Amino acid sequence: MKVRRLKLSGFKSFVEPAELSVEPGLTGVVGPNGCGKSNVLEAIRWVMGESSPKSMRGAGMDDVIFAGTALRPARDFAEVSLLVERDAGDAQGEGALPAGEIEVTRRIERGAGSAYRVNGRDVRAKDVALLFADAATGAHSPALVSQGRISAVIAAKPTERRAMLEEAAGISGLHVRRKDAEQKLRAAEANLVRLDEVLGDME
Ligand code: ATP
Repeated sequence: MKVRRLKLSGFKSFVEPAELSVEPGLTGVVGPNGCGKSNVLEAIRWVMGESSPKSMRGAGMDDVIFAGTALRPARDFAEVSLLVERDAGDAQGEGALPAGEIEVTRRIERGAGSAYRVNGRDVRAKDVALLFADAATGAHSPALVSQGRISAVIAAKPTERRAMLEEAAGISGLHVRRKDAEQKLRAAEANLVRLDEVLGDME
């Protein structure tokens, strides 16, 4: 999976709509302290489904919305869109989207939570998390290395390190699908028991 373009609006310090293209090769983001470099990486993690306000350096998720300055009022929403190009290998799993370019958008309204869209169609947070997990990337994957992450990897417990390796291998989505399948199986078994009881009553 390759990141092609990032669009931000009302996200943290990006009060005006901003667009960043990622061309083939190495891309660097440079600027003075506090200009918003880390906010760019956080926007990528956020649109991929980050659910912890703490890892967005905030107390609540609404803190990602532009909070206002002495000269500008706060905004009521933040929106981030990520255009990615998926390789054939990324498009695996049940109901997966085909390879090619897709745009994932996350929008948060103050006090109303987040909503996700893929190519303009409403989807669940879980769908977005699976989409990135299958491509071995995502909010918690080793593909995104934020400040302090290296020391966190060194200090991680073996179980945490295993989770990182699974993310890197692109198999963490399989755990979610397995849990879903087990739930469906349990529901089907309960239905069969109920059916047996109904049939027994009819005889
Ligand atoms: P450094 O080089 O010091 O690591 P940086 O370029 O990575 O800095 P960031 O940490 O990305 O900068 O950005 C910090 C800036 O973002 C601060 O000026 C902060 O006020 C601003 N900021 C963060 N959240 C919000 C918000 N919700 N509303 C407005 N501004 C915000």
